[in-house]
Amino acid sequence: MSFAEQWPAVEQFIQSLQQRVLPDSVEHWPAAELSELRQLGADRWNIPAAYGGEELASAELMQMYRQLARGSLLLTFILTQRNAACQRIITSANTPLAEKLLPAMCRSELFATVGISHLTTSRQHLSIPAVQVAVDSESDGYILNGTVPWASGASAASLIVTGGTLEDGRQLLAAIPTSRPGLDILAPVSLLGLGASHTAAVQLSNVRIAADEVLHGPLEKVMSHGAGGGAGSLGTTAVALGSAEGTLERFQRDAETRPDLLQFLNPLQKEAAHLAADFTAAVEGDSSPQRSAEALRQRANSLVVRSAQSWLAATRGAGYVCGHAAEQAVRESMFFLVWSCPQPVLEGNLREFTCAGS
Ligand SMILES: Cc1cc2nc3c(=O)[nH]c(=O)nc-3n(C[C@H](O)[C@H](O)[C@H](O)COP(=O)(O)OP(=O)(O)OC[C@H]3O[C@@H](n4cnc5c(N)ncnc54)[C@H](O)[C@@H]3O)c2cc1C
Repeated sequence: MSFAEQWPAVEQFIQSLQQRVLPDSVEHWPAAELSELRQLGADRWNIPAAYGGEELASAELMQMYRQLARGSLLLTFILTQRNAACQRIITSANTPLAEKLLPAMCRSELFATVGISHLTTSRQHLSIPAVQVAVDSESDGYILNGTVPWASGASAASLIVTGGTLEDGRQLLAAIPTSRPGLDILAPVSLLGLGASHTAAVQLSNVRIAADEVLHGPLEKVMSHGAGGGAGSLGTTAVALGSAEGTLERFQRDAETRPDLLQFLNPLQKEAAHLAADFTAAVEGDSSPQRSAEALRQRANSLVVRSAQSWLAATRGAGYVCGHAAEQAVRESMFFLVWSCPQPVLEGNLREFTCAGS
């Protein structure tokens, strides 16, 4: 089914999500809402047709993330982490493993997540790699030790795509069943927002993997060699922009009975429309510098934070009460300042917030 054919049902789901405030503490996991999402075919969108998927074009998938984030950042974020795991399997030269895993993922029989930030944005200042890999002298496989600092949806995942660093500096990525001896998913972390994403650290103590579970590597900087998508990719901008657009739609509903708010809402709506046009050009292949992934993510981060804060101010004390959608939007907007955020984007946002010169 094409994007256009799927769109009306997806938009209906987004509208229904906009009427709800999903609980976001670690006590909740949005099983029912994820099931609704799966019924729309979401688990098939990103997977090649050869494995039973819909194989949406990359630009369509980006727009799907953007639109879905208008309804719920929580669900969209969980989906992107699952899809990031798929992406590493799809781009792997290990075809037998892809043939085993991807059809089951399409049928929603296998839920996976990704724990790769320690190879890109997290723990980069430490002298010892977060996850150390040694060659297994008893087999042709490897032994992993250390801590994967972040893995969202870990409690629900039966597979994690993660990796580590060998003594010689080369790195590998592997698909590891979460039932593997020595792999321990720690309790979900209480977070400023998105606690219901069940984001947790994963401890690896002498975890043995077979050579045929390796997806990429060993090679230097495994994340920059065909492993698919890095920190701060256009997919993360899609989610930030969609989240801002969803906030502005909710703000608009308040402005319908309070026209005095329009003078503040309208400039944000114009900015969102401008960013959406630039984002759409970028996902369709425009590679001009002002539409680079970094430039767009920095603008999206700024917009999502200011949109949420402006809406909260407009809702007054009522919006500050726990459980109101505006206070949740403010907390969730902060997520973009820390999630998959490359250093230049972070510095750009810090420069804006602190009025520090360039
Ligand atoms: C809610 C949430 C969900 C996430 N989900 C996932 C996921 O599913 N999969 C995934 O792979 N990643 C995930 N991430 C990770 C994310 O993409 C980033 O990698 C992460 O937020 C970076 O933060 P960090 O604390 O690990 O960074 P770090 O840079 O490791 O910082 C940790 C601490 O070290 C300090 N520090 C930093 N640099 C230095 C330095 N040079 N010298 C001394 N101290 C320093 C910092 O001040 C900080 O206190 C998630 C993150 C969040 C917040």
